[in-house]
Amino acid sequence: MLEISELRSRYGRIEVLHGIDLNVQQGEIVTVVGANGAGKTTLLRCISGTQPVSGGEIKFRNDAITTVPAFKRIGRGITQSPEGRQIFTNLTVEENLRLGAFLFKDDRVDKDMQDAFEMFPILREKRNLTAGGLSGGQQQMLAIARALMGRPNCLLLDEPSMGLAPILVQQIFDVVQNLKSLDVTVLLVEQNAFGALKIADRGYVMETGRITMDGPAADLIADPRIREAYLGI
Ligand code: ATP
Repeated sequence: MLEISELRSRYGRIEVLHGIDLNVQQGEIVTVVGANGAGKTTLLRCISGTQPVSGGEIKFRNDAITTVPAFKRIGRGITQSPEGRQIFTNLTVEENLRLGAFLFKDDRVDKDMQDAFEMFPILREKRNLTAGGLSGGQQQMLAIARALMGRPNCLLLDEPSMGLAPILVQQIFDVVQNLKSLDVTVLLVEQNAFGALKIADRGYVMETGRITMDGPAADLIADPRIREAYLGI
């Protein structure tokens, strides 16, 4: 579904992605784990089109999208739920969800909203409250639900567990894992390597702008180098 080859990106004169090769097949959950500053967010932004690419290629469903503008990529089914959530805190939960469906004017928007409420009952309860009043975990759920309102085929999730209490972290990972049943393909970027690898099919390890390891998630969890460097085992 997503094929990335030799991808390079820079901020000004400083290159931060030095030739990334990565692919995601339809229906997979793939995770990119790595320390703070490794370039994970930059990678996702290149895929969603909000960060310029300075070399290499991104293909989505066999079409090169490397220079396609971000809003057109959303139309093709690529949606990013950004780091730090970036929900609209002054708008209600429902208004946030409707914004996620801004591309659509059809009856399915209401049905999608009901589906989102099924998945996150707490959002139904709080649908008329401003999003700023939600807890951190609830805001993260809202961010994911809003992304789903865009009917993504491929969802890019940036650190959904960041800043959450451990019990909520597990809840968010459960939600991500359940996206499989909705036929949503997921590329998940996480510093919480263990949590992310546990729910992923495959994983990539990123260090200072390069992929240093990749493979089935279970193999990565079992790998002594990963266990020492990222899992603290
Ligand atoms: P984090 O988990 O902190 O987001 P990350 O793995 O996602 O880390 P990036 O945010 O992609 O890493 O950052 C990769 C490198 O690019 C880092 O060295 C960072 O300092 C640098 N960088 C990120 N954003 C900018 C920017 N807007 N301008 C200049 N340098 C940046």
